[in-house]
Amino acid sequence: MTEGHEPTGRDPASARADADLTPTAYAKLLRHSPHLVGLLSPLGAIEYLSPAAVDHLCGQDADADWNTQRGLDAIHPDDVDLAAQAFLDALAQPGVPVTFAHRTIHMSGQVRSIIGTFHNLIDDPEVGGIALYCADVTDHEQLAAELRARDAEQQRADASLHDARMRFEEVFEHAPIGMAVAELSGRFFRVNPAFCAMLGYSADEMVGHTFAEFTHPDDLTENLLLHDGCRTGERQDYMIDKRYRRRDGSYVWCRVNVGVVRSPEGEPLYQIGQITDITEHKSNADALEREARYDVLTGLATRKLFLEALERELLAARRRPTTLAVLFIDLDHFKHVNDTLGHSAGDELLAAAAKRLKSVLRASDLACRFGGDEFVVLCPDLADPADVATVAERVRAVIEQPFRIRDTDLFLGASIGIAIAEESSDSDLLLSQADSAAYRAKARGRNRFEVFDEELRTNISNRLATEQALRRAIDEGELVLEYQPVIEITSGAVCSFEALLRWNRPGVGLVYPGDFLEVAEDRDLIVPIGYQVLEIACAQLAAWKDAGPDGTTPHVAVNVSARQFAHPEFAERVEKIVTAAGVDPSTLSLELTESTLMDDMIATSGALRRLRGFGIELAIDDFGTGYSSLSYLRRMPVSIVKIDRSFVLELGDAAAGSAIVASVIQLAHALGMRVVAEGVDSAERVASLVALGCDYIQGFYFAPALPPADALSYMHREPRALLR
Ligand code: C2E
Ligand code: CA
Ligand code: CA
Repeated sequence: MTEGHEPTGRDPASARADADLTPTAYAKLLRHSPHLVGLLSPLGAIEYLSPAAVDHLCGQDADADWNTQRGLDAIHPDDVDLAAQAFLDALAQPGVPVTFAHRTIHMSGQVRSIIGTFHNLIDDPEVGGIALYCADVTDHEQLAAELRARDAEQQRADASLHDARMRFEEVFEHAPIGMAVAELSGRFFRVNPAFCAMLGYSADEMVGHTFAEFTHPDDLTENLLLHDGCRTGERQDYMIDKRYRRRDGSYVWCRVNVGVVRSPEGEPLYQIGQITDITEHKSNADALEREARYDVLTGLATRKLFLEALERELLAARRRPTTLAVLFIDLDHFKHVNDTLGHSAGDELLAAAAKRLKSVLRASDLACRFGGDEFVVLCPDLADPADVATVAERVRAVIEQPFRIRDTDLFLGASIGIAIAEESSDSDLLLSQADSAAYRAKARGRNRFEVFDEELRTNISNRLATEQALRRAIDEGELVLEYQPVIEITSGAVCSFEALLRWNRPGVGLVYPGDFLEVAEDRDLIVPIGYQVLEIACAQLAAWKDAGPDGTTPHVAVNVSARQFAHPEFAERVEKIVTAAGVDPSTLSLELTESTLMDDMIATSGALRRLRGFGIELAIDDFGTGYSSLSYLRRMPVSIVKIDRSFVLELGDAAAGSAIVASVIQLAHALGMRVVAEGVDSAERVASLVALGCDYIQGFYFAPALPPADALSYMHREPRALLR
């Protein structure tokens, strides 16, 4: 090979024909080619190798020389046969290139991947041999793999685009919800069958028209605003509840979700809308809204609507010379009817009472069912404050008339409290004033009305003062317990104590529950107070361990109100307190009133059973005052019945009184319960109770509630058996 002639004077921009290349140029092209070129004799001897081929075969080894054997040795032993076959194939087919893949072993020992092509040019007198072209593709394999992967990816993308299109078509055509594709102008170009069915049009009738043409005029402005937001790119999508006009002219409430579809470059292309019929949902929502404002049973305003109206009218009243008044109406004896005749009769009665109430009010007055059997009336515009008395009297008189429910005449009454708005009144204040006036109406004999006045004002402020002092009392440990002995009739011994709460109020002295429990219940203080009472009682039980006669431990009963029991963690807290004090749970009992036990929530909460399972005994307190029956209460895990003092008082007076106590005792025993008579204050009553077979007696006849030290010494007194 010779070199030396540099190709000059050619226009690099124009392609050259073969003939334009000088032999030197050919040689140079060959030299710089990464491909290996060789010439083999028809017998397979290597006659020529291009520089790259020499390099491949001999590397930097300057002394090495190539020869045919070396060429053969370079072929991977496993591929020698294959290369030989290719050579034979080429020999057999002059002019036809035969390509074969094989591996070589590089000078460095590295295995290389080579694509070789034999081209039989024996017939060409200028060549007279078999040309061999080899491309080392070792490094290209990676590249090729990448190319293949890129290819596969493209195919996958194409396939999934295709899939997505198919799926979209499928969904679009068969979706149960309406779907539409629209130009950015809002003009439909596709609508699906569900959407057509929703509006009663065919697809042809809708395509080409804009959504606006099918939209209720009242919803159009909002819809166009949202649509424009999408068009300008301000928003990506929007949701609207709107009405579409159907073909028959009616409207259908729909929830519409619209999204903009963009090109990969972010150019907005078209919009897709999903349309759901929400007629049903909407009417439910409307019904709910109505329900929130009007009581379902009576049709009167709900508390919510009433409070809104009251706020509004109070504001307006300031600018008016007239008087605004609120009447709080509590139905007398309703609970009794409800308990004896059942809830549905109770409901009928409430509805009838509400109807009568409305009949005596003016159109401008607003009557509301405030809850349960409580009603309030707002008279926003009375010419004379005295007129409110007329209204109240009319209400009282109309409720007093007997109600005929299920062929029975039922008698109710109305205890009515009136509050008249002043300059500074707000709705809460006015309602609580009317409430406390109603409370006084009840206390003064029911079926009457009372007007909130100075006396009640002091009453309210006293309650406020009590509440504040009581909060402090809890923190300062001013609450203490006294213990009233309960005597077992057969032995005359003290078998247990009832813990009764006392408030050691600074500057006042010992305050009894009657003077503060109601405030505690109303102001949600009874729950913390109740836990404190339990802690004190348990500490006392622990101190009295083995301290009774003959090393016995007395039992203690603690009163629990419904509100305490309704506290979700009540049972858990009680267990914790008992356990922490190290007290045997069987020495503690809890007294619950009948009404607490009849509260569905409490009866079903599982707390009763949990406490019983823990070992604590449960007692029904004040039995006989709550219209319940023992057989009903038997379903509760209760083992002690406390007959209310009011029945004990009737003992001996009239045969009827004794008969009631006698039957309660008999029934309780039949149900496996033990009976305590409470409030027993005379020897005669003790004698009657002994005769009737009562188990235990509690009352001033023996002892009032005593401070702990006195209770302990009372326990050790000589027992007198109360023999029958
Ligand atoms: P109660 O559970 O019916 O308690 C019996 C009440 O009758 C006690 O009044 C007691 O002193 C009184 N009493 C006992 N024997 C006689 C008697 O022979 N004649 C008369 N006239 N009364 C007698 P007290 O201590 O004023 O308690 C009143 C109510 O306060 C209790 O009625 C109970 O419902 C509630 N109470 C007391 N302590 C607690 C407490 O720690 N927690 C809760 N939630 N309520 C309590
Ligand atoms: Ca009690
Ligand atoms: Ca009681």
